[in-house]
Amino acid sequence: MSDDIPFDQTFDLPPGQVDEVMPGVRRLLCNNPGPFTFKGTISYIIGRGHVAMIDPGPDDADHIAALLAAVRGETVTHIFVTHTHRDHSPAVPRIKTATGAIVLAQGPHRPARPLNIGEAPRLDASNDLDFRPDHALADGEVVSGLDWTIEAVATPGHTANHMAFALKKTDVLFSGDHVMAWSTPVVAPPDGAMSDYMASLAKLARRGEQIYFPGHGPAVKNAPRFVSAYILHRKAREAAILRQIGKGETDIPALVHAVYAGLDPRLTKAAGLSVLAHLEDLVTRGTVATAGAPSIEGRYRLAG
Ligand SMILES: [Zn+2]
Repeated sequence: MSDDIPFDQTFDLPPGQVDEVMPGVRRLLCNNPGPFTFKGTISYIIGRGHVAMIDPGPDDADHIAALLAAVRGETVTHIFVTHTHRDHSPAVPRIKTATGAIVLAQGPHRPARPLNIGEAPRLDASNDLDFRPDHALADGEVVSGLDWTIEAVATPGHTANHMAFALKKTDVLFSGDHVMAWSTPVVAPPDGAMSDYMASLAKLARRGEQIYFPGHGPAVKNAPRFVSAYILHRKAREAAILRQIGKGETDIPALVHAVYAGLDPRLTKAAGLSVLAHLEDLVTRGTVATAGAPSIEGRYRLAG
């Protein structure tokens, strides 16, 4: 159902091997493959001599050792974090202790909206609730090292605190899990919000960077066009949900069954939350109605 997006799943970087993807940008793959992480989390090293890291990754001893080995003889001055899922930020304390670098991110983990009664944070184990940045980045804030300059670009949606990082004077943006070449990310309430996610996609589509280095998988090329395809894909998903609801009041399991053909069974829960994200957005916009706050157990019908 995703053939509308020009996905690229060619990625064969071995875990722990330093790969210079362009002058001044190195990447390292962590060995944590999975249905949400593809081949694993990618950490980036920016600059030479005095360097920044982006997303040190999970608390994985081998990956942390490989990252530190990659920068042996260099000084790590900054650690940037795109968001606080456990595959991106839990390595931060050990890298910070080893290097003394300052940690920069939008903020601690937080849900995109208040929890409904009886609602647990989604896929709870996926959140790094201990994370605290040394410096909270504002949208558009610019941070410079010796031979690099990064602009923080707030991109809430996958998580409320998600940020992308543009590498100034290049064509490159580090897109975290917001935009990836191998797949679309999960947008799951209450940590994620579809309205924020769509606004963040529109924000990136207006920017000039042509190449995105994501948190998982290969680089995104022709990025603005790719982002436009992402937006169309979500709009098509929304239209499919509305078509199904138009046939009569229904619930989320039925919508998942109707809208996601051939879904990996490990992703059923995530798909349900993704449909909930669309429904929250549609209820807010007054297109769809439900009793009370939109919830995973709710029943949905067209409004009016
Ligand atoms: Zn991730």
